[in-house]
Amino acid sequence: MRLHEYQAKHLFRTYGIPVQPDAVVERPEEIPSLSLRYPVVLKAQVLVGGRGKAGGIQLAETPEEAVARARSILGMEIRGERVRKLLVAEAVPIERELYAAFTVDRSARRLAFLASDMGGVDIEEVARTHPDRIHRISVDPFLGFHPFHARQVARRMGLGGEQMVQFTHIVCALYRLTTDLDAELAEINPLAVAERKLVAVDAKVVLDDNARFRHPDLPEDEEATDLERLARQYDLSYVELDGDIAIIGNGAGLVMATLDMVAHYGGRPANFLDVGGGASSEAMRHALDIVLRKPGVRSLFINIFGGITRCDDIARGIVAARPAVPTAIRLVGTNEEEGRRILEEAGIAVFTDPEEAARHAVALARRS
Ligand code: GDP
Ligand code: MN
Repeated sequence: MRLHEYQAKHLFRTYGIPVQPDAVVERPEEIPSLSLRYPVVLKAQVLVGGRGKAGGIQLAETPEEAVARARSILGMEIRGERVRKLLVAEAVPIERELYAAFTVDRSARRLAFLASDMGGVDIEEVARTHPDRIHRISVDPFLGFHPFHARQVARRMGLGGEQMVQFTHIVCALYRLTTDLDAELAEINPLAVAERKLVAVDAKVVLDDNARFRHPDLPEDEEATDLERLARQYDLSYVELDGDIAIIGNGAGLVMATLDMVAHYGGRPANFLDVGGGASSEAMRHALDIVLRKPGVRSLFINIFGGITRCDDIARGIVAARPAVPTAIRLVGTNEEEGRRILEEAGIAVFTDPEEAARHAVALARRS
């Protein structure tokens, strides 16, 4: 889960990483009463990158100008995301732009520290054009990241004296933040040099969703829809799409293959839900409730391969929930006969061939 800049900067402050004084507003009229020094920079709070190029970052010299510019940014759509919040920050006179980040290096199973004296631009761009200007340290999980690592990199970047001290302080704090909060990425781009001081002008933090339960105090996922949040409460993985066929399966691989089959036969999934291994009839009832609450669903496709999951449990859940839309079910595996008997007694047809079931689900969506 990716945090907004204002949320990430809040964490930065907690860890003692210097950021500009700022405030979040949702309406332009709130700006004149903020106690900020001008000029200010107005920054669209969206989770997609490249805000600057899209006009989502603008400088304002006076409160009047800030209000006018805020009107143009709030409500703007940046790469499909509507701007609802604006960060108003005291502008910093940037002399140099650096880059610093901790990220998970999956192939090494370690954190990697990356830094460059060519900040401000896309780091992928720097990696392509000036690979020698990116400095990298693979963090030994037993040793950790220490001030000497930071100083080593600072020296290679040409930072000395007070700037080296500040850089070391900042990146060590960034390392603590990354490990304390189970972040997959903690990035400062640019880390600006302004009036001889280092300031984190931008902040990007991506948290590991699998570790969320360890951090109940961290912000809610603003990207998730209400149904996605509801599914999470029941420990079901649910994702919303924009077609008209609701999909339930067990196991991530099977669900992905089900989506492909539906698309192959010309259907468009409305959503998908993975009830996981060993799903109970209770889980199945919740699953049906969630996928069918999505408006615009015209048919339902349930694709279950019973392993630990028992087909009779699944069948009981389906019968109890009585889906109100035309349904195609493919059910094979453990206790298959019993499952089929329960469904057929309730007047629900069952397929064993997943492709036949997929074709049927697509036909049902067209018909209804
Ligand atoms: P991003 O485009 O979404 O990565 O947003 P950033 O916060 O990184 O801002 C993009 C660019 O805008 C920065 O690299 C700076 O060049 C410029 N910028 C942002 N804030 C300030 C500021 O306070 N002062 C100055 N002079 N430039 C800024
Ligand atoms: Mn940036």
